[in-house]
Amino acid sequence: SAPVRERADVVVVGGGPGGSTVATLLAKSGHTVVQLEKERFPRYQIGESLLPSTVHGVCRLLGVEEEIANAGFMHKRGGSFRWGTNPVPWNFLFAVTPEFAGPQSFAYQVERMKFDDILLRNSARSGTDVREECDVTDVLTDDTGRVVGVRYSGRDGAVHEIEARYVVDASGNKTRLTRHAGAQRVYSEFFQNVALFGYFTGGERFPAPDSGNILCAAFDEGWIWYIPLSDELTSVGAVIAKEHAAKVQGDREAALMRFVDRCDIVRDMLSDAERVTDGVYGELRTRKDYSYANTRFWGNGMVLVGDAACFIDPVFSTGVHLSTYSGVLAARSINSVLAGELTEERAFGEFEGRYRREYAVFYEFLSAFYDMEQSEDSYFWRARKVTGFDRTDMTAFVSLVAGAYSGEDALTDADAVVIRFRESTAELTEAAARTGGMDTDSGQRMNHLFKAPVVRDVMEEMNALQARGAMGSRTVEAPLLDGGLVPSADGLSWAEPAVRAVS
Ligand code: FAD
Repeated sequence: SAPVRERADVVVVGGGPGGSTVATLLAKSGHTVVQLEKERFPRYQIGESLLPSTVHGVCRLLGVEEEIANAGFMHKRGGSFRWGTNPVPWNFLFAVTPEFAGPQSFAYQVERMKFDDILLRNSARSGTDVREECDVTDVLTDDTGRVVGVRYSGRDGAVHEIEARYVVDASGNKTRLTRHAGAQRVYSEFFQNVALFGYFTGGERFPAPDSGNILCAAFDEGWIWYIPLSDELTSVGAVIAKEHAAKVQGDREAALMRFVDRCDIVRDMLSDAERVTDGVYGELRTRKDYSYANTRFWGNGMVLVGDAACFIDPVFSTGVHLSTYSGVLAARSINSVLAGELTEERAFGEFEGRYRREYAVFYEFLSAFYDMEQSEDSYFWRARKVTGFDRTDMTAFVSLVAGAYSGEDALTDADAVVIRFRESTAELTEAAARTGGMDTDSGQRMNHLFKAPVVRDVMEEMNALQARGAMGSRTVEAPLLDGGLVPSADGLSWAEPAVRAVS
């Protein structure tokens, strides 16, 4: 017999952070939302190092900031890099940014099984009809070919159908649905890496307060992440150029240990550690073909968020930031259209415009960062000629890698911006006294990075943004895009800038 067709305003496919963000915000706005997840949570996922914009900005908007704060995740105050030929690692601290100075100057390193589970439960608590072990196999279309729902096989093995005004594809990098939005995946020509990763107990920690930092250490064939997930557990992964992909085939254990051996600082930190060999962390996993963007992020009744739309590269931990930020943007657009306030074109144009901009900035920045390592030899001599190091640039750099580039209230904390900027002066001085934000050598490295034109532009924009915060003139959020929209007062939909300025 034909399956019974249920109805909802929106179906969200995927229970990861992207899906839970969009579902929660739509449910909070009073829409009927069904969120379908293939696995039974908690389930394993990679992507453990987060940015402040996610844990303070988006999580606050979702009403889950406190629960996350109480979950016992490792505090990440910044990043440590062994990048280039200098054997001394350098640090950046989130504390030097005005957006995340003071009490918010950290993010978390998370076991994604726990983090994603908290977001999914919160989505259900917010009113979403969350259904696990429901595998979406196809979309439903009307006579015009527009997507009007999904078909899924449930835990009972039966086929189910749900009709909806919009289908959000948040089903991650293995999505089978994006083509129905008229989208095609385009792989990056620059980022063509493979990753091999596993877990260790007993790895060394940096001295406090940097003990929760992510360490990224470059070596000949690529780089290694070293993420302290707890006092005991460390996530270790090698990112290797695709040309070396053959090396991660076959004996994965031997391959990972060989990469670790080549990377002095990680080898030293793991010298007393043991690899976890049982349970969910016992497996050595690989990932490849993960750097891509779709030609469209919405269309034909569908909206793509998170890895279903795009992903760049693990360096600088932008994956969960992009997935949750795109979830916020998508929810605003869907809310505005369902409320009859904006046309699809206008609302989703804003969604795609902002999302692409965020993606493009990180894409260029990450490319420049990779380039910095590759051209180390010639750079080394050029850098000798660079004198001095502009602290404003340093601040802007860290704001970018904290996820605060868009200047969105939703990603920081609008009410506290000015206050925190003042507080941060003291923190800044303290941090500068301790580390200089970074050591002098890294300052010179950063100067090299700033030569990339797009990074230069971003830095200027962010310095302007921060100056605005410092002057306390931050009253109405300006449109981010030319002729674009601004977030509504509650942050859950879009408004025309003029309308908001009068009200
Ligand atoms: P996902 O987390 O993948 O969630 C998608 C969900 O959809 C899954 O639960 C899946 O089971 C479900 N699903 C799939 N198909 C279906 C279906 N047909 N029906 C129903 N449900 C379905 N990001 C960071 O922020 N920090 C990092 O340190 C970091 N490191 C990374 C390292 C590597 C090697 C890689 C490859 C990525 C890394 N990332 C990192 C990126 C991060 O993993 C992703 O960007 C993030 O998980 C995307 O979240 P999402 O919600 O879009 O998708």
